[in-house]
Amino acid sequence: MPSSRNAALFDRAQAVIPGGVNSPVRAFRAVGGTPRFIHRAQGAYLFDVEGTRFIDYIGSWGPMILGHGHPAVLEAVVAAARDGLSFGAPTEREVELAEEILQLVPSMDQLRLVSSGTEAAMSALRLARGATGRKLIVKFEGCYHGHADALLVKAGSGLATFGHPTSAGVPEEVARHTVVLEYNNVEALEAAFALRGEQIACVMIEPICGNMNFVRASVPFMKRLRELCTEHGSLLVFDEVMTGFRVALGGAQSLYAALIPGFAPDISVFGKVIGGGMPLAAFGARRDVMRHLAPLGAVYQAGTLSGNPVATACGLATLREIRRPGFFEELSACTQALVTGLRTAAAEAGVPLAADSEGGMFGFFFAEALPQNYGQVMASDSARFNRFFHAMLARGVYLAPAMYEACFVSAAHSDQDLQASLEAARAALRC
Ligand SMILES: *Cc1c(COP(=O)(O)O)cnc(C)c1O
Repeated sequence: MPSSRNAALFDRAQAVIPGGVNSPVRAFRAVGGTPRFIHRAQGAYLFDVEGTRFIDYIGSWGPMILGHGHPAVLEAVVAAARDGLSFGAPTEREVELAEEILQLVPSMDQLRLVSSGTEAAMSALRLARGATGRKLIVKFEGCYHGHADALLVKAGSGLATFGHPTSAGVPEEVARHTVVLEYNNVEALEAAFALRGEQIACVMIEPICGNMNFVRASVPFMKRLRELCTEHGSLLVFDEVMTGFRVALGGAQSLYAALIPGFAPDISVFGKVIGGGMPLAAFGARRDVMRHLAPLGAVYQAGTLSGNPVATACGLATLREIRRPGFFEELSACTQALVTGLRTAAAEAGVPLAADSEGGMFGFFFAEALPQNYGQVMASDSARFNRFFHAMLARGVYLAPAMYEACFVSAAHSDQDLQASLEAARAALRC
């Protein structure tokens, strides 16, 4: 018999929901053990159904940049809900949110709102194919762009071979239009363009990849990627669902634009933070690309709940808070302090640990150096990660339950929370 409410709920959940969860990583399969069922959250904390408090470094996998229950956000959401949950007709708030986002991301002239990152990435792909009239897409091993068929693909055995589905239910015929390359590998990129450049509709990339923990695209790699896309008429799609409004106010593209003269992606995809915890995502581009979208153009895309009035209220209130001067400087300093503290604690414990952060996003690896690609991420010490994860959880610190996931700090994390987390880490590193 399960001895805890979490275990009892997990039993009940498994009877009615496959694996007991509505998104696989929540099941703790990678690290083992029983997932915690969350009852409520406030500020930097999660409280499970047993009343245990955790310092939250997942933040709903990114959206909760202000922490939980921010007063201005709550107020906006409640007021919007009173005015109606959904209309299926245009609203002023959608226009305001679009204007707000476009002001902060100069590479886009227009955007469309959707309800999830998966939907946004899938739509961006269709738009890229429709705008170029080409079929082939390129992605990188370790990057996640949601679960659209064409994106659940791994590399074939060589550049000339077709991609293979990573999920049952994805036809080989769909996977063969996706080329999967190694992240940060300039030679592989050049070879792929040399071989099939004229067929490539777009290259989709997580510029800082948070779905293999935390791996940056190197500046020379990004620069070459931009050049090759331009040379071959392929569109560069930045999947900033995680990094958008999280690593910097202008997203990861603002960081690359500062380092590479004239740099801009062709299409950008956002989610997570722009919804502030409600189902909301977006994709956008220059006007000449967006004009291909229905009702103006021939690329069809639609959504019953797209631009939902409550979700847009939540997103707008969140964006207005993070636009405050100094917001990202404070959040970055806080995140850096945590990462520096982690490195020091590991060094003192004699444990190899590499860590990196940008804005309110960070990652750490039990490895001698920061990985540059998926293979290197997978070569880091997963057994130690699992021990560390559980030792932290037991000490009230909730990290992502898999070593290939990024972690997040919110504006609600206090210095005291950071110090408590580092104290937990010092003990957990000895486990
Ligand atoms: C989370 C994520 C997605 C998918 O977003 P959902 O809202 O979960 O569908 C796509 N791309 C990246 C980079 C993500 O981190």
